Amino acid sequence: MALSKIEWTESTWNPVTGCTKISDGCKHCYAERMAKRLKAMGQPNYRKGFQVALHEHVLEYPLKWKKPQTIFVNSMSDLFHKQVPDSFIFKIFGVMKQAYWHQFQILTKRSGRLKELATVLDWPENVWIGVSVENEAVMSRIDDLKCVPASIKFLSLEPLLGSLVHLDLSSIDWVIVGGESGPGARQMKKEWVMQIKEQSSEQNVPFHFKQWGGVNKRKNGRLLENRIWDEMPIPFKIDALKNGIEHNKTNALGQQKAPLVPHSARCRR
Ligand code: SF4
Repeated sequence: MALSKIEWTESTWNPVTGCTKISDGCKHCYAERMAKRLKAMGQPNYRKGFQVALHEHVLEYPLKWKKPQTIFVNSMSDLFHKQVPDSFIFKIFGVMKQAYWHQFQILTKRSGRLKELATVLDWPENVWIGVSVENEAVMSRIDDLKCVPASIKFLSLEPLLGSLVHLDLSSIDWVIVGGESGPGARQMKKEWVMQIKEQSSEQNVPFHFKQWGGVNKRKNGRLLENRIWDEMPIPFKIDALKNGIEHNKTNALGQQKAPLVPHSARCRR
């Protein structure tokens, strides 16, 4: 298990590493930078650097982690990359179903393949699925996501590279917004963030503001309108499992909305 510094998760699990760039949001890919660094450090899972690699030996790790936690699946890759065989994706879903005490979060830019496989994959309640959308050019990923019969569907609007003024958030359960960080980071305008925040509020969808980003992301922080926005959707079953075992980040800040029941699916085929 690797503890994660990402604000909206707790741990990462990487049965697949490596990827290839697919849209503007990939330009300064953090996973690519990290993979190159880990290769240089001699980390065996990164022998191939940022080329797609499958790691059978880590498949069962979540079954060994007894403490319930929120796990970001493939933070160093894209699970629906064409070089990941269907059979390996099925294995990953099998482990997530078995490890019912954890909450898994998957994020992809390959929404076309996600939509194709969604009908044949088994979607246990503890698996959340999201798509990354960085600008209007890739808004169709949201329509693809709406076809997935997952309990929680979310959007990661990061790195936000333009305004998204016509967001239809029906059947979307959570919106995350963040600016790009690291060398060469592209600027995110406050008006873009506020437009999304207002649309989330109007459509009653939890809003999480991850960061302003920039070359020095620590300095720029994550305050928006003088407060932290850490809203999250909490499914009742998982919340009950966690209750009393560990604190919930959002509850600790006292900023969480009441738990929301997921919207009914609205899929445009
Ligand atoms: S899809 Fe994600 S992991 Fe793959 S290159 Fe783009 S940003 Fe990096």
